[in-house]
Amino acid sequence: RAGRRLTPSLAVLVACSEPLDQFVAGDPSYLLGRRPEHARVEPDNPSILVPHLKCAAYELPFDENERYGELAEDETREVLDALADARLLHRGERGYHHVSDAYPAAQVSLRGPVDENFLVVEEPRASGVGAAGAAPAPRIIAEVDYDDAPQDLHDHAIYQLEGRQYQVLRLDHDNHKAYVEAVEVDYYTTALLQTRVRVLERASGTGCASHGEVHVLDRVVGFKKIKLHTHENIGYGDVSEPDREMHTTALWLTLEPRDVLALGWTAAEVTGATMALSRALHSAAALLLMSERRDLGRAMGDARSSWFPVAGRGAKGLGGGDAPPDPRAPFSPTVFLFDRYRGGIGLAERLFDERHDLLARTRAMLERCECDEGCPGCVGPGQGVLIKRRAAKLAERFEQALGRELLAQRALEAQPLFGDARVQPHASSADAPREAP
Ligand SMILES: [Zn+2]
Repeated sequence: RAGRRLTPSLAVLVACSEPLDQFVAGDPSYLLGRRPEHARVEPDNPSILVPHLKCAAYELPFDENERYGELAEDETREVLDALADARLLHRGERGYHHVSDAYPAAQVSLRGPVDENFLVVEEPRASGVGAAGAAPAPRIIAEVDYDDAPQDLHDHAIYQLEGRQYQVLRLDHDNHKAYVEAVEVDYYTTALLQTRVRVLERASGTGCASHGEVHVLDRVVGFKKIKLHTHENIGYGDVSEPDREMHTTALWLTLEPRDVLALGWTAAEVTGATMALSRALHSAAALLLMSERRDLGRAMGDARSSWFPVAGRGAKGLGGGDAPPDPRAPFSPTVFLFDRYRGGIGLAERLFDERHDLLARTRAMLERCECDEGCPGCVGPGQGVLIKRRAAKLAERFEQALGRELLAQRALEAQPLFGDARVQPHASSADAPREAP
């Protein structure tokens, strides 16, 4: 809130080794020389829309044929009917009325939907004695978003709150509670997540860059212990958590097999470079969107698997065949960046619109980073100079593929200028149907 009265103010940023901090420390004009924020809000996301409709109905009942926001009449009615079916609104002859006395705006969180939040419960230490000598009672110290709970509150996780550390004793999925106890340790934890993404429907894009709806399957399989201040990795732990699924929107970048073959790398080298590149893309995307890294999810795959973008519209629905890819077919590396919010909030869509800029920035970040072996600011620490170089090379390949696609698209758009008889429109390589494996 500094500077709201237009008087001089001082802000101090203490940069750590995170990519975002390093970038800003290296180029402060990025932060200080531009408009503060272009906020991304997707008002039609059901998690945002429904609570707002409730609030609107509380202020003034809805008429039968009223529209809300960008929604059409029938779309508005659909949501109102759903709320009426859930007995949150009353559907009467004269429209929809709010039924409860509770002030619905109090239920709306600026951070996100609250309905299914997890409660963080501090258990008193066995030897602890309350201030008045009585046995201390468990107390609720925080609420965590439903989607963040598996990552932040898995067994043995260190949960940090207001400068204090707590260790999770157990996570009770059924009752949405995590029991913690206060500890003092010199590390924090990050969850190791296995993420699989499957394309449900492509909204735009054709060949190497697409945007659309995806099905994301997350599983926390363990965690890393990371030393405070230095961010050194000091150990691992296993966790067994149930899968989490969500539908959201993603940007995905795919390199065609012929572009991969042209690199002359082994499959392992391609995989390593794709992983390193995906990490750099993730950082560059967060920077471009001015979002937190954790607002975006990242996954890597092979376009040959049904969990990845092979079938486009045909892949709609869940539980389709998941045949293993043919090992003889050339690898087609794919990087997904997706909104880590159910239904999507528009991040991936903007990344798709700015895909050329995203790739150019990513490559610049990789080429300009002064580290030798990889660092948190580029491909991750200790990856090695080869991986870093290959990731930059791969970024360049993606850029070239995007460039070709753009040229082909412009050529198609320009066709009518030449008359339709002489120049036959030809499908660009990007439009050609992907060959079956
Ligand atoms: Zn680096």
